Amino acid sequence: MENLSVSATRLRASQATRWTSVRIVPPMNLVFFGPPGAGKGTQADRFAANHGIPKISTGDMLRQAVAEGSRVGTLVRDTLQAGALVTDDLIISLVAERREQPDTTGGFVLDGFPRTIPQAAALDAMLAERGGVNVVALVVHADEVVRRLSVRGREDDDAWVIKERLRVYSRETEPVLEFYRRRGAVTILDGNRPLDEVTAAIEAAVTRGLKATG
Ligand code: ADP
Repeated sequence: MENLSVSATRLRASQATRWTSVRIVPPMNLVFFGPPGAGKGTQADRFAANHGIPKISTGDMLRQAVAEGSRVGTLVRDTLQAGALVTDDLIISLVAERREQPDTTGGFVLDGFPRTIPQAAALDAMLAERGGVNVVALVVHADEVVRRLSVRGREDDDAWVIKERLRVYSRETEPVLEFYRRRGAVTILDGNRPLDEVTAAIEAAVTRGLKATG
């Protein structure tokens, strides 16, 4: 009995030695965070392409559903037009389903999710066994956000809807930043700068090592 436990300990020790000699690259699970117009969608596209990981954009998924006229699309069309949030249950199940695709195992960039505290809690549960999440938050002045959105001209970019989306952002979404900040998981970058400079700043932050959730 004693021998057995000794050899079990040795076995564990030798496995540990072998494992430490292998460089384990954890999956890069990133959340790009910021108000509408912060440029997070563009930066998430670039980052995903540079690192060969998928971008999961809830806004794109919803707009695609609307364009296809799917059941989900019919459910969310009016909500998108009004600049309100779709329900947590719906968006959480869309993200959970997407994250089960095999292309996400090496990591992914989330754009537009989580946008509420229940969504952040659901993401935690989804990632329980798959490493934590790093948050890259782009900070942009309010007047710059309004300027960018009004030139973009998406269907939900008219003046009234922009205002509503910004209100929703400060009420529902900003608390999510605080949720991650308390864990020291947020890297904050200045999103007022030109796109290429922000891209470079994100890459530099990743090279330095992002702040991770515990
Ligand atoms: P932006 O960040 O420019 O406002 P998005 O493309 O991220 O644009 O989102 C567009 C719309 O899609 C939102 O205004 C909202 O109606 C809906 N939406 C996207 N992501 C979520 C989410 N995580 N939770 C609830 N609604 C969402």
